[in-house]
Amino acid sequence: MQKNTLNATYRQAAFAMFVWTVVVIASLAWGAYGHRHEVLNIAYQNAITTITKDIAFRDWVASHGGVYVVPTEQTPSNPYLHFLPERDVVTTTGKKLTLMNPAYVLREAQSLYKGEHGESAHITSLNPVNPNNAPDEWEKLVLARFERGEREIKEVTQTDGVQLLRVIRALKVDEVCMKCHAHQGYKVGDIRGGISAIVPLKPLFDIEARSIRDLSMSHGIIWLLGLAGIGAYNFVRRREIGRISRQQELEYLASTDALTGLANRRTLMLRAEQELARAKRYGSELSLLMADIDFFKKVNDTYGHQAGDIVLKKLADIFLQALRDIDFAARFGGEEFVLLLPETNAENALKTAERLRASVNDIQIPLPQGELVKCTISIGVASYSSSGNDSVEKLISGADKALYAAKETGRNKVCLDSSAEEQHRLES
Ligand code: GH3
Ligand code: MG
Ligand code: MG
Repeated sequence: MQKNTLNATYRQAAFAMFVWTVVVIASLAWGAYGHRHEVLNIAYQNAITTITKDIAFRDWVASHGGVYVVPTEQTPSNPYLHFLPERDVVTTTGKKLTLMNPAYVLREAQSLYKGEHGESAHITSLNPVNPNNAPDEWEKLVLARFERGEREIKEVTQTDGVQLLRVIRALKVDEVCMKCHAHQGYKVGDIRGGISAIVPLKPLFDIEARSIRDLSMSHGIIWLLGLAGIGAYNFVRRREIGRISRQQELEYLASTDALTGLANRRTLMLRAEQELARAKRYGSELSLLMADIDFFKKVNDTYGHQAGDIVLKKLADIFLQALRDIDFAARFGGEEFVLLLPETNAENALKTAERLRASVNDIQIPLPQGELVKCTISIGVASYSSSGNDSVEKLISGADKALYAAKETGRNKVCLDSSAEEQHRLES
């Protein structure tokens, strides 16, 4: 019983540790997922800042119909604007200027921009005026998706083993764009291309790795503390179970007869007091049987003391089997047993006693050596009555007297206590 309970505490502790481990792992996974989400969000914000700045820059240039600059080797007259009559002008002081259109200006600015970790931006179109603005492979794929109605696309891509976040936002054709792009057949509101930005993810992933390492360490410490807590709780609980079961064992030993497992004399006296108090309070009946093995000394003398013990145990089993749940059997001493029968009058107690006597009379008890022992019992019966046997002592002494009478008049028989007999006679 105690071993089972202790095993159950081990199983419960193992289960609690398992659940705790799953909870900690789930929390760590959730934390790691959150970090990754956060990192991608930072990269995205980074890309969007670049793109929106580029759009504002381009819009500013477009709102002025382009800007005139002194042509240099780096920025010669734009050959793709040959159809514009004012592409190249000369100032009143004779200075030559050439018109830079918005995409040209932006491309120049973008070519100068390289972020701290290799961030870059690019203006592009599926149908560029200038082939330098032609899309790369990824841009080609996503520009095609603009045709299907998407306006912004972001993706994590891998180029030469380097992970990049790529974001592209659609560029709409507005009135000022038409000056250069009308000849391509565009209308105001069309999607002409897009501005894309590239953010290398490695620096952010490095920060993420450090955060996850810290998170793993804190989770590891919390996990170990949890395991230690479960272990400590289990230890205290096992000690408590041990203490309770030792106490129960002591109580059992103090209340039970070690040989037969029946209640001992002390327990019988307590129970008899309770049953008598109940009988008095509710006016119910109560009988007490005292059974003694006939010539038991002879059994010991003939077969040995151990054989006598086997007989005592067997009779205890017979009593337990024959009695009702509410009845109570005790070893009163030596080879004497007392049986308490609540809610039972003298007449029924006599019947029960007779049944017990007959059962013992009918059996043969096998011994380990193979011999069969036969024995008989005599029983004295006393019943509670408010005018006679109204205390436990009187009930016991009444049953004892009846037992003595049974022994005197031949043994292997049942006798009723004379005071109960008197009562019985008066009642009938
Ligand atoms: P009676 O019919 O008059 O009761 O005769 P008896 O021999 O049964 O009575 P007696 O009182 O002379 O002897 C009782 C015997 O019960 C003596 C004792 O050795 C034996 N006895 C008492 N307790 C135990 C026990 O725990 N084990 C064994 N084996 N014998 C016991
Ligand atoms: Mg005896
Ligand atoms: Mg005796």
